[in-house]
Amino acid sequence: MILQIEPAEPGAHWSTAGLCAQVDPRLFFPTKGQSVAEARGICMACPVRAECLAAALGRGEPSGIWGGLTVRERQRALRQRREAAA
Ligand code: SF4
Repeated sequence: MILQIEPAEPGAHWSTAGLCAQVDPRLFFPTKGQSVAEARGICMACPVRAECLAAALGRGEPSGIWGGLTVRERQRALRQRREAAA
């Protein structure tokens, strides 16, 4: 699978540059027991990964792979952030 990395158009929302727009979105919402490796690999190459992860953490996204992290990984990141701020 070859994905094209392109910046968002000027004035466009960052999410328009997300690589996930080029693949089946179901990849990012794995069913129980399904590997997240492919989705994670795409996220790791995504030019807007940081923005995506920050947004998912900010809204407490309850499902899916966002910014390369699973729900549990995002929950852990939020917990670590809270502990660091305490
Ligand atoms: S980091 Fe992953 S989920 Fe977020 S926009 Fe990029 S490919 Fe999509």
